[in-house]
Amino acid sequence: MITRKEKREAEKDKKYFFEFMKIQNHFCKDLNKKLKQVKDPRHPSYITYHPDVILMMVMMKNAASLESMREMTDAFNADNCIENLSKLLGIESLKELPHYDTVNDFLSRLDMKELENIRTYMVKELLHKKCFYDYRIDGKYWGIVIDGTGLFTFREKHCEHCLKRTYKNEETGENKTIYMHHVLEAKLVVGDMVFSIASEFIENESEDVDKQDCERNAFYRMAKKLKNTFKRLPICMIADSLYACENVFQLCDINKWKYLIRFKEGSIPSVMREFQNLKVWKDSPTYEGISWVNGISYNERTVNVLEFAEEKEKEKKTFTYMTNINVEKKNAKGLINGGRSRWKIENEGFNTQKNIRYYIQHANSHEYQAMKNHYLLTQITDILVQLFEKGSKIMKTDKKRIKKKASNLLRAFQTQTITEEDLIDLEKPIQVRFT
Ligand SMILES: [Zn+2]
Repeated sequence: MITRKEKREAEKDKKYFFEFMKIQNHFCKDLNKKLKQVKDPRHPSYITYHPDVILMMVMMKNAASLESMREMTDAFNADNCIENLSKLLGIESLKELPHYDTVNDFLSRLDMKELENIRTYMVKELLHKKCFYDYRIDGKYWGIVIDGTGLFTFREKHCEHCLKRTYKNEETGENKTIYMHHVLEAKLVVGDMVFSIASEFIENESEDVDKQDCERNAFYRMAKKLKNTFKRLPICMIADSLYACENVFQLCDINKWKYLIRFKEGSIPSVMREFQNLKVWKDSPTYEGISWVNGISYNERTVNVLEFAEEKEKEKKTFTYMTNINVEKKNAKGLINGGRSRWKIENEGFNTQKNIRYYIQHANSHEYQAMKNHYLLTQITDILVQLFEKGSKIMKTDKKRIKKKASNLLRAFQTQTITEEDLIDLEKPIQVRFT
């Protein structure tokens, strides 16, 4: 039996912050360089803190799960934090850290492309790591889940890009309008981890548009960028039934993307009928509870449908997907798992980011450009945090709750100093496994 004192001692020796640095260094060794190269939108005579300092400080705020900018300024007001941030960035010792007004001012002017490019750099590094190859769908395709979610809601008009929804109050008969900001995410699924690889804000171009922006339109914009950024990446797009439509199929054909789309009764009735008929008639193949029919005609193409029926706690659930990957006995289960990984974006992707850490619905600034840049910085941090929690030796076996893990990292950042010896250690290669 380990005593409480022993437990405390063991905990004291864990260098959470240093381990976090190691993970960053291992997976994204040029991240500091990229942060330094960010194009500064401010007038040179007003610059005290360079972009890398500001951006990394916000990333540490996110990683430590601090809820507000004010909390960050308080929590990081310690000599160790200033010293550790300098070490993390590999720069000469800073004297102070920027105030949150300076941070928000910078983020309200920063071109979002700068942060998108940093995320792309990180994702491309990850795609080269052999340790992730086994998670590809059908042995070849990287699963990318597409889904939208709400971020901010206001009672009054916030900016000219707000989405609007008008409700009628049942009792008073009065109309009430709420103002919102939503985002569409593309997340790369790698085992238990989901990494944001593209974010498209669902927003109106101006206040007086005839038709408001919507998830599908945002998707078309996003798809263009994704194709441009990851030209030859073998992608399998995973999405809900909203995407079961001709335009999306066409887009996947043109981009040479595979798709795995949740298929519901009402999605495309002709295909569903054909699937149900052929399943019975042709005595379609069945394997481990999965049945499928390949080559169902739809417009100018054929699609494949597979279905998995599961009985859990006496409740029968059916999962049906449309795909352009040929279904066979050897890949049927993998495809179903791929399609079902969509829930991970709900869970790890949105729920955790909203309610457990980062609090992405909490606006760190009221200025729209800064809000969007804060969101992107959260997605960038989340890549490192997931790699840290799932890959770092000291974290993998750690059964603590997410909040506790974040506060351990914060405490280490505030109290443990990175030594010269640590920095030498940092250059040694490490091995990271996720299983
Ligand atoms: Zn707005």
